[in-house]
Amino acid sequence: MKLDERGILIVISGPSGVGKGTVRQALFNMKGHNLTYSVSMTTRKMRPGEVDGKDYYFVTKEEFEQRIKEDKFLEHAEFVGNYYGTPLDKVNEQLDNGQEVVLEIEVNGALQVKKKVPDCVMIFIVPPSKQALYDRLMKRGTESEDVIKQRVEKANREFKVAPKYDYIVVNDDVNNAADRIMAIIRAEHARTSRSIDKYYELIGETDENSEENIGN
Ligand code: 5GP
Repeated sequence: MKLDERGILIVISGPSGVGKGTVRQALFNMKGHNLTYSVSMTTRKMRPGEVDGKDYYFVTKEEFEQRIKEDKFLEHAEFVGNYYGTPLDKVNEQLDNGQEVVLEIEVNGALQVKKKVPDCVMIFIVPPSKQALYDRLMKRGTESEDVIKQRVEKANREFKVAPKYDYIVVNDDVNNAADRIMAIIRAEHARTSRSIDKYYELIGETDENSEENIGN
């Protein structure tokens, strides 16, 4: 039995090429979870195999800028020449329904979310070594050399932001990384600040009464 009923907003970041997408898939393949993925909006070109509305909502720069004006994003950022943003509409509704909402976003957007939703859980995924990351970026073969170079530079800057996150998870093995994230989510549900109101309800005490006899 969980004492808190609201879902948790989980923010996953990590340098380009670290395998965030694969870890997320492994997480969603685990049994008995109540996770929903927040599909982001982007102005970048669709990669082969990607599906509009599933991987991203692919829009034009003009459409994206219009949405910024209308305040329709929880956060948004520019990444290697393109816009990326989290549509605001569904996130709150899903959290109220008790679903965990997973955002997979870059660091600037993640820091905006932390300001707006301080009780979100920030997880930074890192590679077992920097070389492993560079190898992955090269092998992906979906970007030009110039874009790869920009992503490597960006990754080097992103590494420095890890201390601002609540948790650091090493992606040495996809299933292990997903397991660790699930353990974090379970532990976060038991956090006193999330459960305390329901706890008092459960034991029929008020906040003040419960603290009265402490130490006696
Ligand atoms: P990619 O082009 O490789 O799909 O994504 C590039 C970067 O943008 C990744 O670090 C990814 O996590 C991040 N990203 C994806 N969606 C969003 C979003 O909605 N907001 C922000 N701030 N970053 C995002």
